[in-house]
Amino acid sequence: MRDYLDNDNLREECGVFGILGHSDASALTALGLHALQHRGQESAGIVSFDGTQFHSEKRMGLVGDHFTDPMTLANLPGKAAMGHVRYSTTGDNVLSNVQPLFAELEVGGIAIAHNGNITNGQTLRSNLIANGAICQTTSDTEVILHLLAKSKVGNAPHRLIEALKQLEGAYSLVAMTRSKLIAARDPFGIRPLVYGELDGKPIFASETCALDIIGARFIRDVENGEVIICEKQKDGTIKVRSEKPFEKKPERICLFEYVYFARPDSTVAGRSVYSVRKKMGENLAKEAPIEADVIVPIPDGGTPAAIGFSQSSNIPFEYGIIRNHYVGRTFIEPSQQIRAFGVKLKHSANRSQIENKRVVLIDDSIVRGTTSLKIVQMMRDAGAREVHLRVACPMIFHSDYYGIDTPDPEKLLANQYNSLEAMRQYINVDSLEFLSIDGLYDAVCGEKRNNHSPQFTDHYFTGDYPTNLTDLAGKNGISIHKISLFKEAG
Ligand code: AMP
Repeated sequence: MRDYLDNDNLREECGVFGILGHSDASALTALGLHALQHRGQESAGIVSFDGTQFHSEKRMGLVGDHFTDPMTLANLPGKAAMGHVRYSTTGDNVLSNVQPLFAELEVGGIAIAHNGNITNGQTLRSNLIANGAICQTTSDTEVILHLLAKSKVGNAPHRLIEALKQLEGAYSLVAMTRSKLIAARDPFGIRPLVYGELDGKPIFASETCALDIIGARFIRDVENGEVIICEKQKDGTIKVRSEKPFEKKPERICLFEYVYFARPDSTVAGRSVYSVRKKMGENLAKEAPIEADVIVPIPDGGTPAAIGFSQSSNIPFEYGIIRNHYVGRTFIEPSQQIRAFGVKLKHSANRSQIENKRVVLIDDSIVRGTTSLKIVQMMRDAGAREVHLRVACPMIFHSDYYGIDTPDPEKLLANQYNSLEAMRQYINVDSLEFLSIDGLYDAVCGEKRNNHSPQFTDHYFTGDYPTNLTDLAGKNGISIHKISLFKEAG
């Protein structure tokens, strides 16, 4: 078991789904999770309720490998179900951490699935343990369950709200009791969560693509700081009510949902992710123009931005890199050496589109620089005359602690090389440019970044974290909040 104050535990990416009032609730949940697979590929779980008891199936691996099996779905009867996909960067990739987590409490059975990271989760956990709590996982979700179990304020939704009030950080969660499906989003609304309906019955999911796959209608986003409680009535109807129980905060959705994380066919806070990414490419072409023969996306993340760059610059777009879709994510491998090998498995050069050409590579982001380094070499090996790199987001100087997998700050390429020129030399490109923060904001919302009240959370670029980072501060003995705003490479 890992040290429960280990920062690495803070890093996991997830997707959630919940549905009430459908006879094939677990199959619909499996489909929804399948559409959310990009949010987490290491494990998946579904909990259902059949009117008498809860059922749970959890698996390591992909949704499609387990939850298409009729035997597995037969073990998940009932008209209410919820599920979770998860990706964690650390060794805590064990079945006990797979969500949804379920517990029998004073208020009855409750299952919780959670997307986001709680920045005081480890501190709360150590306090709970010091007071006699027995923890069986290393997940923040268990902390929420413990806080809920200790609350004495009314019914399950109220106890959940009491628990959530003690959290700091990001959470978009779905919970299920014997009669209710509950959705909640943290006061800043850092991670997305949408509310939809199928045949008039409620559904909650991390992204709209999970509604589309089952033909459900999008109603609206769950708002920042909102708790929606859906309750089965005796006549079979479902009553839906909304509460805003937390101290009011400005909405600050994570910009990385637009940059990398969300699926391009999803709509996040009313904006098409694809259109935003394309506009990032258009803005990048205007900010960092270049004479070249071909625009080549680093697939899949760089593709919409590359289309935008190509259309704006009138340089042809070609698939100069072919992606092998049967390989997991670059990040999935634990060590740097294996990860580097993984890049080769994932991408190969399409020599016919590269040889003797001035190539402009477009990627959505540079994190450690592993992908860029390998791909640039691949382009040179395939005979490219020049290789330029344009990145459709600003330089990443700061780690994320809200549910996007990023390494510790010292492993971020922008921190290892203290200038754009040094990064260019390391990656070995003829030119290197990043989209500016204002160019990114313009692509997302048509406005510049407001330095006093940023409309989104952009901490990985600016160091402006919307919440305290209590666990990190406790571990490092420092208070981390608003680290060096607008640090620029020289
Ligand atoms: P790196 O190779 O470490 O520089 O990572 C950047 C590459 O990984 C880009 O091609 C991105 O599309 C992709 N990427 C960015 N953020 C993440 C993330 N949180 N998890 C997995 N891949 C990512």
